[in-house]
Amino acid sequence: MAYLRFKALEQVQNRPEVRVEAPAKKISEFFGENSFDLDKMRAALSPDVYEKVKFAIDNGTKIGPDAADAVASAAKAWAIEKGITHYTHWFQPLTGATAEKHDSFFDAASGIEKLKGSTLVQQEPDASSFPNGGIRSTFEARGYTAWDPSSPIFILGRTLCIPTVFVSYTGEALDYKAPLLKAVEAVDRAAVKVCQLFDRNVTRVTPSLGCEQEYFVIDRALHDARPDLVMSGRTVFGHNPARGQQLDDHYFGAIPNRVYDFMKDFEIEALKLGIPVSTRHNEVAPGQFEVAPLFEEINKATDHNQLLMEVMNRVAVKHRLKVLFHEKPFAGLNGSGKHNNWSLITNTGINLFQPSSSARENLQFLTFFVCTIKAIYEHAGLLRASIASAGNDHRLGANEAPPAIMSVFIGSQLTEVLNEIETNGNVKVGKGDNMYMKLGIDKIPEIILDNTDRNRTSPFAFTGNKFELRAVGSDENVGAPMTVLNLIVADVLHEFHALVEKEMQKGTDKKLAIVNILRKFIKESKKVRFEGDGYSAAWVKEAKKRGLPNITDTPRALDAFLDKKTVALYEKYNVLSKLELEARNEIKLENYIMKVQIEARSMGDLAHNHIIPTAIKYQNKLIENANGLQALKLNNTHVLQTIARVSEHLNVVMTEVEKMIAERKRVNKITDTRKRAIAYCDDIKGKYFDKIRYAVDHLELLIDDEDWPLPKYREMLFIK
Ligand code: ADP
Ligand code: MG
Repeated sequence: MAYLRFKALEQVQNRPEVRVEAPAKKISEFFGENSFDLDKMRAALSPDVYEKVKFAIDNGTKIGPDAADAVASAAKAWAIEKGITHYTHWFQPLTGATAEKHDSFFDAASGIEKLKGSTLVQQEPDASSFPNGGIRSTFEARGYTAWDPSSPIFILGRTLCIPTVFVSYTGEALDYKAPLLKAVEAVDRAAVKVCQLFDRNVTRVTPSLGCEQEYFVIDRALHDARPDLVMSGRTVFGHNPARGQQLDDHYFGAIPNRVYDFMKDFEIEALKLGIPVSTRHNEVAPGQFEVAPLFEEINKATDHNQLLMEVMNRVAVKHRLKVLFHEKPFAGLNGSGKHNNWSLITNTGINLFQPSSSARENLQFLTFFVCTIKAIYEHAGLLRASIASAGNDHRLGANEAPPAIMSVFIGSQLTEVLNEIETNGNVKVGKGDNMYMKLGIDKIPEIILDNTDRNRTSPFAFTGNKFELRAVGSDENVGAPMTVLNLIVADVLHEFHALVEKEMQKGTDKKLAIVNILRKFIKESKKVRFEGDGYSAAWVKEAKKRGLPNITDTPRALDAFLDKKTVALYEKYNVLSKLELEARNEIKLENYIMKVQIEARSMGDLAHNHIIPTAIKYQNKLIENANGLQALKLNNTHVLQTIARVSEHLNVVMTEVEKMIAERKRVNKITDTRKRAIAYCDDIKGKYFDKIRYAVDHLELLIDDEDWPLPKYREMLFIK
């Protein structure tokens, strides 16, 4: 009897309901109560210290020791008031998870609670085991975390958390946040320069980000009874349920009660942290859901997304649920992504991707719009690399998620506008002419009614007033792709600005110079625009003809990070050095290898300890039955046929698993990391995973349900 599975199922049956009460009638009464935000600082600090801190946050400058002391002391007092005894520097190392090391406020020597400004500003975590791709061994063995005042201090669990960047003593970035902040600075500078062609009042441009987070939820007992889920976050075996997502009924259905309570609960905790969660709904697959906050300044939004995932993990424990952030926990069902809604907003309050009723402003809109498209065209490979991971390989190019081909969808209205500018190359605009009218720029509607959102198959889509990068994996730290996006857009904006200046120096009128360069960019980047079905085989062919890169696996996609072009770009804006890029790639490759290795091991272990013994037992039962029937001189043809089928699949599992293990031994000896990663991709995952899975999933169909050891898809996916 499949003891674990049935015990888990019994637990699911007897789950008590977890009631969730909101702490107040109105969200505004508890929103941000666990976040030491600007309002709290204003209340706690003297006006001149507050002004200093505010200035540093707004301008990305350093906070002096006196002000730091004042902030530390105020944050400590606030935390102690809430019963908090410990603090930590919270950072985002390249493992993907967030890391913390907790220290007590209590200082035994003086007998009082302390948090000094210097401790707030800088700490040295014992972080020697964080991946660093050889940087540490080559250079300096130690790293430190440094306070990032632009993201608010918060309380998580029982700890005061100070958002920080993580860098080595020689200055190399060891985390996701440090390069993101630099890329944000780069795009700010470039965008301000371009904005000033239109409006001298613009002095700061900030990227905004809103992440739509998809996830699966299953019962914790069922999760724990599946070693593959526990080890790798993904089911390596499991047959599709009879009712999958074919009916699309889950998408429109009501949220199941248990999940609803869980959502309510984690939303409350998120809101207390100042994470503005606002949308919740079912997703396409059964057991799949989505949460989305309102967009925020990108650094904060990135921290908040990491924090939200952490909060969801924690709250799920109370509900005896498990959240799966893996990109593809269940074969045959939709995977999970994280749509990154991105825009650029000026200090004057203008969203640069918002078409306007004024044609003059629309020229500015078009500038940013076209420059972004060109950035994607120029750096498609790099953008693709920034979202590469073992998990995401299951989505990209798997005919159910945006393909690995980076293209841009803009909708028919804007396509027309761009076409018009492109073909109006010979229009002469004289003095007194309405240039906007002549060039068709007056035709951009203020609100794009084109259902731009409807094309769900595009990895990078314009959705009315923002771009949406949809190819990001659900488990990803969005700092990685957002660093790339802001950086590549910054570079094209600089190029744009330089070219316009050059035109103007030739005596061309500014507006015309702008249009001329836009026309050039529109032509140059046209190939990256695609309005059709991104999931179709026809697009793969067409993209190939257009020369667009289509790299479907992580080890090869990562090469783009080491391109000469990429290195030059990163070094030009001082975001990462060649060495740091190399180190990061090494980490990503190692990470890939580890993930595939763990999955391969899970497969081997499950086969040896669960699947093969179960199949043999069942085979014996059938043999006994067949012999019994024969002894009674009854027809046993069907039983014999079943025995043959079981034996056939069993044989495949036994032989292929052994071959895979032998192959892994060979591959593990490859010293070059990239080559080893490719071998894991092609020779282990590529050659064995599907074959073994096919046989196991067929055994699942054949073998007595009573004996099957692993919780089945239908048992995990339909939470009540
Ligand atoms: P959907 O794409 O599912 O229709 P919404 O339109 O509700 O979703 O928006 C999804 C996300 O985009 C939300 O997080 C929202 O706050 C964010 N968003 C909206 N406008 C902007 C913007 N200008 N910049 C960045 N994100 C934005
Ligand atoms: Mg969306």
